[in-house]
Amino acid sequence: MDAAAVMAVDEESGGKVQARAYEASVKFIEELTRKCHEVQTMVLAEILSQNAETEYLKRHEMSHGHVDQETFKTNVPVVTYEDIKSDILRLYNGDFSPILCAQPIVELLFSSGTSSAQRKMIPITDDDLQRRHKLLTSVSPFIKKSPDKGKMLGLLLTRDETITPGGLIARPGLNTLFKNPQFYNDNPYPYNTNTSPIEAIHCPDHFQSIYTQLLCGFYQRHDVTRVKVIFGSNLIWAIRFLKANYSNLCHDISSGNLNPKITNLSLRTRMTETFMQHPQPKLAKFIESACLGKNWEGILQKIWPNAKYIEAILTGSMTQYIPILNYYSGGLSLVTLNYASSECDFGYNLDPMCGPYDISYTIMPNMAYYEFIPLSPEDDVSGSQPKPVDMANVVVGQEYELVITTYTGLYRYRMGDVIRLTGFYNSTPQFKFIRRRDVVLSIDVEKTTESDLHKAIQTASIVLQQFNTTILDYTSNSCTKTNPGHYVIYIELITKTLANGIGLGVNILEECCLAMEESLGFYYRSCRKSYCIGPLEIRVLSNGTFEKMMDFAISNGATFNQFKMPRCVKSLSMLELLDSRVISSHFSPSMPHTLP
Ligand code: AMP
Repeated sequence: MDAAAVMAVDEESGGKVQARAYEASVKFIEELTRKCHEVQTMVLAEILSQNAETEYLKRHEMSHGHVDQETFKTNVPVVTYEDIKSDILRLYNGDFSPILCAQPIVELLFSSGTSSAQRKMIPITDDDLQRRHKLLTSVSPFIKKSPDKGKMLGLLLTRDETITPGGLIARPGLNTLFKNPQFYNDNPYPYNTNTSPIEAIHCPDHFQSIYTQLLCGFYQRHDVTRVKVIFGSNLIWAIRFLKANYSNLCHDISSGNLNPKITNLSLRTRMTETFMQHPQPKLAKFIESACLGKNWEGILQKIWPNAKYIEAILTGSMTQYIPILNYYSGGLSLVTLNYASSECDFGYNLDPMCGPYDISYTIMPNMAYYEFIPLSPEDDVSGSQPKPVDMANVVVGQEYELVITTYTGLYRYRMGDVIRLTGFYNSTPQFKFIRRRDVVLSIDVEKTTESDLHKAIQTASIVLQQFNTTILDYTSNSCTKTNPGHYVIYIELITKTLANGIGLGVNILEECCLAMEESLGFYYRSCRKSYCIGPLEIRVLSNGTFEKMMDFAISNGATFNQFKMPRCVKSLSMLELLDSRVISSHFSPSMPHTLP
């Protein structure tokens, strides 16, 4: 048989394997989503019987073989992380008795420190890691329909890990994922088609890691069919990195010599032996000419002409990055696949090409037992006692806070995530991710949530659009130094023609302040009317400030992949950093016209 015939047979058998994987995946999803209520009852019974002898369930009188939902809901309270922190700290300090979970805890996962004041630590078992991995491999063929040919430019970073006083590894969940050999080998759409070598992904120094990952992406630019980051904001960060470093990167490519700043030995060896054997001046010239100049519209497509889509989380507060990613990508499809956390992998987007504003996640009923606290605008204000409902009783259009009970020992645990029911896949609920519940601005009785703020930013964006200006990123603070206090909105602007938005008429930014006030809620506007809140202020920041914020957060323990820009900054040092980079400040010129 000649080579072409061998390839044809290989392709045919490969095709059959893929077709079988797809069929198995469809069957898995269909069964799971049809039987979701049975699965939920079974999951809760399994969790309760497995963990019946734990201190926590005994404390709540669940140790006598009670596995039914009613006893569970009567005896076990709905809690937040703060309520179980002392139990987790015991584990952290080396008490390995079955406190929360009967199975041995193998790691503590750090959950992002940017959405709450401190990093949370979530215990994890080997079984749960396997459960998550199995879910990923079972669902992937369904989601991807057919595997991507070509390579993935995956800009993925890990971070240093620590060992707890009790001897457990403590690290961000993504480290655990990227360091699991199964992640590279068993996945039906394996990550070994990544352009980045694992030495680059595992390198704890972010500069060295992203620098070499971009280099590898350049060398394989024609093979790249997709770009992957974890959160949309990560890609914006990588593009800024490219802006700052492209001439050094091009120098390396044209000389064939790796930048001496790449000091990690295994990474350096891998780069020089695999990728940098010959100088490639033509490639360097091409990258340089693509990056020269101010107009970076479509830069991703220019450099990676065969890329079809960008895979990144773009829901919740990440939606604000969609316009800027469209700008840089030249209109590549934007795809978000899943909704997950250190605590649990909750759901998948079963229709990934649907467009970033239409994403709903189908809950995976085999991963945890779920409850849902119905929310109304008053709940955020009054903080009334939560009354969760189960999966059988959720209503389309209603917003809920997600509450989970997991195999790893979280019982009726409030995630702090607000989701809205959009429909069902078979009998399984599908949700939109709305926002984190706990991020609010408040001066008086009013409470402004993250999504209220986001909406206000969007109204300002509409004003700025007419002047070819985009809000690159934003954060805020309730400033109580003035009397009355007022909202301060920090923004970084990107204008096609003006650096830092300097030169944009003062009136325009005042108009933005007013537009934002007009879009804010009833209580905000009535407080303005009664002078309990002063005029909203926009502080324009010099370019690069949000990058500095991220560096700052990372140097304080956040991770690149998990970092989400805090929409409300409370830390004094972060506020100092922001205020030191203010170029101009603008106030709302009048009362909002839409006073209640
Ligand atoms: P971490 O435990 O650090 O991985 O953070 C998990 C949190 O990230 C979740 O509780 C959500 O608030 C957020 N998150 C995860 N996936 C998504 C998603 N697809 N869309 C929006 N937010 C998400």
